[in-house]
Amino acid sequence: MVRFFKDLMPRITHVMEWRDADKCILASTLTLGFVGVWILRMWLVERNPAYGPYMNPDFVEPMMALVLFQAFGHLSIVATAALLRRKARSMPGLVHVTNQFWYLCFFTDVYAVGAFTSPFIMLFLLAAVFGFIVFPLRPVVLSLGTFSALLVTSTIAERLGFIPYAPLISTNPLNAGRPHTSFILSLGLLPLLASALVLGLFAYVVTQLRDREKRLKEMVKTDYLTGVENRRSFMHRTEIEFARARRFKKPLAVVMLDVDHFKRVNDSYGHGTGDEVLKVVARILAAEVRRHDVIARYGGEEFALLLAETDETQARIMAERCRQKIESARLAMGGAAIKVTASVGIAAYPREDVSRIEQLIELADKALYQAKEAGRNRTVSAA
Ligand code: GH3
Ligand code: MG
Ligand code: MG
Repeated sequence: MVRFFKDLMPRITHVMEWRDADKCILASTLTLGFVGVWILRMWLVERNPAYGPYMNPDFVEPMMALVLFQAFGHLSIVATAALLRRKARSMPGLVHVTNQFWYLCFFTDVYAVGAFTSPFIMLFLLAAVFGFIVFPLRPVVLSLGTFSALLVTSTIAERLGFIPYAPLISTNPLNAGRPHTSFILSLGLLPLLASALVLGLFAYVVTQLRDREKRLKEMVKTDYLTGVENRRSFMHRTEIEFARARRFKKPLAVVMLDVDHFKRVNDSYGHGTGDEVLKVVARILAAEVRRHDVIARYGGEEFALLLAETDETQARIMAERCRQKIESARLAMGGAAIKVTASVGIAAYPREDVSRIEQLIELADKALYQAKEAGRNRTVSAA
């Protein structure tokens, strides 16, 4: 039971990631609540006209038929979506039908009570804002087009005297200059409350969007396996740090570290163990660098460090400490104690032949190559 709710919660909370069918079910179910209130109200007024003193008795029955039809339509959408939801994530047809039907219903409601005398129109605007975020742009724009066309046409028709204005409203709801209580409750307060609900949903979805953006930003700069920064982020950060070092005439060092004979680790213990080894190496490096330094996975089993305000001597001390820690680390893997070593290349700024960060990285890379050539498990500084 607890598990069921644990599984359900993320599904409920991430509306943006829902499949189209589920979004349509949400939109239609929320609207059904609204339609339910209409049905109840019409039912009450049919029983006793005193419940709708400002309502046109001749239009109560057609209005009842209309809202029953709306309920039927929304229920059909919910049922269809529920039946089809497993078929595909994206269902443009269903989204179009849901949106078109939604705005069509909305138009009839707005027309019935008068588009220019009730806060209904505000609810429609808010729902459009919500629709723009949850649904793709096209179906919402197209159904808004339908809504606007109907609104303009009906307004012109009414001005020309072909159709009445607000057919559901007969007498002036402003009796003696004060709105009738039932008018306030049904045509004033109800849309206001519904608008508050839509606004709440809207705020909720925006919060999710912000959260998602934050997570994406984090993902873009993080290496998936080891959790340190990736190469893209390293290049971005080093450019900023290099510009700073240049301007303020501060030293700066780049350290490139490559695990020795890593292919053998993979070959002997498997790729999964190789991954674990990389994670341990990243953890050792992360424990050594200072807060403002950058540590990144530069390539497969190659790591890069950017040490701010560090000259060559300090960089060498730091690099040697990393190398020794890696050498003395023992990885217990299924009974076997795996031992790895690493080769390190260092290049420190300022130097005559470096005016761009790429040149410094290249020098560190060359030094790393020399460390490999000289027998591995050692640190070499750029000549
Ligand atoms: P050297 O001492 O010259 O660096 O030898 P090496 O075997 O470490 O270098 P080489 O470039 O020949 O092989 C690197 C290996 O690293 C090959 C590749 O399969 C492995 N590798 C790269 N990325 C990953 C990874 O994400 N996980 C694992 N398990 N292995 C990786
Ligand atoms: Mg290697
Ligand atoms: Mg390598």
